[in-house]
Amino acid sequence: MGEVIYEIHPDLCTECVGHHDKPQCQLFCPVDCIPHDPNHVESNDELMDKYKRLTAQKSASN
Ligand code: SF4
Repeated sequence: MGEVIYEIHPDLCTECVGHHDKPQCQLFCPVDCIPHDPNHVESNDELMDKYKRLTAQKSASN
């Protein structure tokens, strides 16, 4: 939760790479209010690396 609205932390968002073909939050948002952040443009390979890093951290903490 941000100060005014919910915010997506760029370190924790893989644009759903590793789970889905398209960003699920954008697909299901009824008011089209989740834009790509031009300050955090990442390649598919970078997003997949983030996905692997995050899921490895999750597995290590369980
Ligand atoms: S649903 Fe996918 S694109 Fe949306 S915030 Fe979560 S990881 Fe990112």
